[in-house]
Amino acid sequence: MSLVARDVSIRFGGVAALSGVGVEVSAGAVQGVIGPNGSGKSTLFNCLTGFARPDSGHVSVDGTDLSRVPAHRRIGLGIARTFQTPRFDPRVTVWQAVACGFSPVASAGLLSSALWLPWVRARERRVGEGVARLLDRFGLAEERHTQIGELSLGHVRLVEVARAMAMSPRYLLLDEPAAGLGEGEQRLLADELRRLASEGVGVLIVEHNFDLVLDLCDRILVLSGGRVLLDDHPGTVAADERVRRIYLGY
Ligand code: ADP
Ligand code: MG
Repeated sequence: MSLVARDVSIRFGGVAALSGVGVEVSAGAVQGVIGPNGSGKSTLFNCLTGFARPDSGHVSVDGTDLSRVPAHRRIGLGIARTFQTPRFDPRVTVWQAVACGFSPVASAGLLSSALWLPWVRARERRVGEGVARLLDRFGLAEERHTQIGELSLGHVRLVEVARAMAMSPRYLLLDEPAAGLGEGEQRLLADELRRLASEGVGVLIVEHNFDLVLDLCDRILVLSGGRVLLDDHPGTVAADERVRRIYLGY
């Protein structure tokens, strides 16, 4: 079981953003993607999630070809994502933001007029319990009634990850989720992602923080100029001279 990109190439005008890049996100594993600015990390991420369309190559999930599946329908196939710049209405509360991950219906006004339906009530209770559990895990319980616009950037990012987890994805993809997070929050995020992987979810994380990636990932893909420099275990990546030059300056 895996989410796979094979031999993907994509150009934007004269820029070859990706040239023959492949990556595999396996169920139960954390795959990292690192590389300098402009190396194609977000483009690869977008090809996997349907926000960009490769000029050539293939993307598939558990054997199903995704080339004709638009982004919004990939959620139905178990693929959830976060955005490098979180996209929330600043007026919604933390609780509402996470609740809408469980189902678009959960936040619809329609529900309040249908409260007499027992199944709706049971469902609302389940969603409520799910939201409470996620907020607890991410240390956001006390801020459940706070509007997104009032939160620190770090907490907004955690809310976004919680919302994506609420979708019960089989594959969770995160683009630079640790930017703006303090050290404690980063550790919390890493713990949650590791726990998720141990439950069988495949995780892909694009991340600048080299130490976090080394600590968290089972495998790390290194991109450079839109090509694969390396895709290997953290120990091998950390020992690679080219990687050390890029990240450690020697
Ligand atoms: P990274 O996430 O590693 O910083 P990106 O995938 O965002 O890199 O970008 C890879 C290259 O593709 C860069 O040269 C960038 O300018 C270019 N690029 C990415 N998206 C677009 C786009 N929508 N239009 C034009 N150029 C783009
Ligand atoms: Mg990027």
